[in-house]
Amino acid sequence: MAPPNRPPPRRFEVLSAERLTPSMHRVTLGGEGMDGFPAGQQGGYLKFRVEPEGSEKPIVRTYTIRRQRADALDVDFALHGAGGGDAGPATEWALSVAGGEAILVGGPGMAKPLPEGADWYIVAGDMTALPAIGVNLEALPRDAKGVAVIEIQHEDDKQAIDAPAGVELHWLVNPRPGARPEMLADHVRSLGWREGRVYGWVASEFEAMRALRGYLREERGLGPADLYISSYWKKGASEDAHKAIKRDDAEASAA
Ligand SMILES: Cc1cc2nc3c(=O)[nH]c(=O)nc-3n(C[C@H](O)[C@H](O)[C@H](O)COP(=O)(O)OP(=O)(O)OC[C@H]3O[C@@H](n4cnc5c(N)ncnc54)[C@H](O)[C@@H]3O)c2cc1C
Repeated sequence: MAPPNRPPPRRFEVLSAERLTPSMHRVTLGGEGMDGFPAGQQGGYLKFRVEPEGSEKPIVRTYTIRRQRADALDVDFALHGAGGGDAGPATEWALSVAGGEAILVGGPGMAKPLPEGADWYIVAGDMTALPAIGVNLEALPRDAKGVAVIEIQHEDDKQAIDAPAGVELHWLVNPRPGARPEMLADHVRSLGWREGRVYGWVASEFEAMRALRGYLREERGLGPADLYISSYWKKGASEDAHKAIKRDDAEASAA
């Protein structure tokens, strides 16, 4: 039974599934799952229950709502290990699903937007965070200033994001996600620091998150009010294993 306060998963119909860029696949959900779906959940997350053949129970995987319309949700799946080996069940599902199929999805969970009022925003993440980064930059006041550093797998994975003119987008290409955990932090560090209120927002692979946390929290002193930092996955770990590692890390880093 679902725990109290957590609504049971909804049944969505897949309206379409298509390649957005070389390493990003968009699945659009609609149908009965949209009945009574709360408004304004763009940037929030969903829990997909995929059931690969032979699996005894559904496997739960977390994805962001990139765009919400009255009758549909767009969800972007960063592709990894496609065509062999390391592609997890959610990735396999997204790649194989076709319009008309059904999927059970829990949520929505809360978005992590950028608060207004910072003098300078530092946003960093990989392709798993690109949907949330897109939502967040598009929601910023048009006079906001800062930088967004985004690791992508292929030059053509760049996306058009309607960010404020004062927020520069820096795209870093790394064809093997997770293989260069220092890449984002090194780039952010190379940009120097600004006076005034700096707000940091990070979501990425676990080790990349730790490198960024070392810089933004330990070196630059951003506290919880000025920093959202989360790992969205961990190289070599399934989402289930990553969850446990993330919990231990949060306890150790708060100690
Ligand atoms: C709040 C939140 C929001 C998220 N939103 C999105 C989103 O909108 N889009 C999105 O693509 N992801 C998103 N993620 C990350 C996504 O949940 C994980 O990447 C998830 O592990 C993918 O599930 P899977 O079944 O494909 O692989 P799993 O079965 O979890 O893992 C299988 C293997 O693939 C590796 N792996 C997992 N993800 C990646 C990756 N991106 N690149 C390379 N190797 C990987 C693992 O290390 C493991 O070795 C989000 C995560 C969180 C916590």
